Formats: sequence, structure tokens, C-alpha cells
Amino acid sequence: MLPRRTFLRRAAAMAAILGVDPTRLLRAKTAPLSAAPMKGERFKGGHMLATWNHGLVSNAEGWRQMQQGGSALDAVVEGTAVVESDPTGTSVGLGGRPDRSGRVTLDACVMNAEGHAGGVCFLEDIEHPVRVARAVMEDTPHVLLAGDGARDFALAKGFEACNLLTEDSRKAWEEWRQSAQYHPIINVENHDTIGMIAQDLDGRLAGACTTSGLAYKLRGRVGDSPIIGAGLFVDDEVGACTATGLGEAVMKTLGSFLVVELMRQGASPAEACLEAVERISRKMPVDDLQVGYLAMDTQGNAGAQSIHGGFNYARSVGDQTELIDAPSLR
Ligand code: ASP
Repeated sequence: MLPRRTFLRRAAAMAAILGVDPTRLLRAKTAPLSAAPMKGERFKGGHMLATWNHGLVSNAEGWRQMQQGGSALDAVVEGTAVVESDPTGTSVGLGGRPDRSGRVTLDACVMNAEGHAGGVCFLEDIEHPVRVARAVMEDTPHVLLAGDGARDFALAKGFEACNLLTEDSRKAWEEWRQSAQYHPIINVENHDTIGMIAQDLDGRLAGACTTSGLAYKLRGRVGDSPIIGAGLFVDDEVGACTATGLGEAVMKTLGSFLVVELMRQGASPAEACLEAVERISRKMPVDDLQVGYLAMDTQGNAGAQSIHGGFNYARSVGDQTELIDAPSLR
């Protein structure tokens, strides 16, 4: 823990860099790490952060991958793939809520320590968009494939087509069609993307983000989750960030890139996430708008922040995991 005087001095210096009120930064709390490395050294204990309650199962699988010699990329891809397969999760993969025409369309992306990235958006009929995103990164010269092209690519790679609309989701959609009203509700059902960032036992970073997007969205709508820099950004020299919530707000502020760039300038993960949500709240009305950011640096520090309360995340260091409520502006 920093002595209070050092912390205040540091907050004032950061505030000058960011051009913000220094007292505001005092509210940003970075979760401490018990086995923190020496200043400047990379953390190598297996550090994972994943959004919402389903982050618990993602991190458990991520740790399993790392113990078997898997990289941070293996951890985030296979960790989030577990959530994609869960039919009870209504915002990711199988069982995801459909668009207003009744079709489930998926968005995902990955980014690795070398700065390579891959993504798919508006993808139908494929249970694991995050694995397809990895294939885009590793097997093509491109970053993002969309719609039928992404589906054709997935099928050519051996992914099987399946029906993603579960009976529960179909019934919920039928009910929604009675009124066909669209009001995004904070933290409830219509946005719970899984974003996962990790640092492996060699200290390398990677991230993945996967979602079915907003429930009953306009057909063709793509959110922030497959957009590198918006839903996810990784820079192995600095840190990683992922986002959840209303993708339009994240895209307009290129949120995850912003968080990593603020960390590059010296902000802690918590300070950077706070500034990124405040940037949104300064630019648009946020009464009905939730966004949450989750970030880590290379030294094993973590931070998160949301606009409204209710955003939580799973943090694992090795096999120790806790579910943490993120601080919120409101
Ligand atoms: N960010 C996602 C989107 O806008 C939604 C979510 O986080 O659940 O598509």
C-alpha cells in the first residue's frame, strides 16, 4: 500500500497528465495484489479478469488451460468458449437473445501479446465465435470478417452449423414481439457480454470478448465487442482492457483503447477505467446507459469501473478467485 502522502502526490501528478480534477482520482481504487512483483517487473502468477458472474467459470477454465501449459490466449479463448456453450446465458453464444427478426447474431474478437487481432461480427449459426475470431487472427491476413463471409469462413475451417435460438429465447422473443418496445435496461438480460483478459505464467497478455449483443437489436447491428480498441484492447507492454454495456457508447469513445493509452501515460487500471466511464458521462446522457470497463496492467494490478452499480467481475490469481463488485459513478 502506498503511504497516503505519496498516493496524493501521485494522484495530483496523474490528474495533471489527464487534465482532470485530482480529487476525482482518489475515488479510483486499484485492487492490490498480495504477491505483487517488484516495481517494473511483469507478474507471472496467472492473472485473469472476466466480466460478470459467468467470469467465474471462464477463469476456472482459463486456469486449467494455463496449468496444462496453455498461453494467455488459450486461457481467454477457451475460458469464454465455456460461456458461449451455456444455453442459460442469454447474452452470449448459444441461448443468446436474438435480434428483432428472431435470429441470433454473434460478435467476438481476440487479441494477443504480439498485437495480432481477429474478430467476427454479425455471425450466425456458429456456437463459438471466439474460436472463429482466433482462426481469423491466426489463419488469415485480416482482422474482421462479417456476416455470411464469417460464416463461410467458419464452415470452411470445420466449425459446425447449429441452431443458436433455444426454446427459452424463442419464447422470450415471442413475448417481446407483443409490444416490440426497445428500452435498454441497465444490467438486466440485454447486455452481459463476457470479456476476459489474462496474463499467463510467462507474463504474456491476451484478451477475448464475445457476445450476442443487445437483445432484439436491429438486424445487422454490431456492437463494440468485436471491434478492436472498443470492446477489447491489449498492449503487451502496458496492459489490457475489455468492455461491457451499451456498445454504441463504448465505440464512440473507443473505450478499451482509451483505457490502455491512459495506463501507458501512468494511470493505474482503476484510474484509467474511471476516466473512460467519466468520458462517456461527460459526452452523453447516461441515465439509461450502462458501461463497465475491466483492466489489468503488466504488473498484476487490476481495476474496474461502471457508470451504474451492478457490474461485477471475477478476478483470479492462480487458483484463487473472487467475485468483485466494481465501483460505479452512480
Ligand atoms: N457490449 C455489448 C454490445 O453492445 C453488449 C454487452 O456488453 O452485453 O453488443
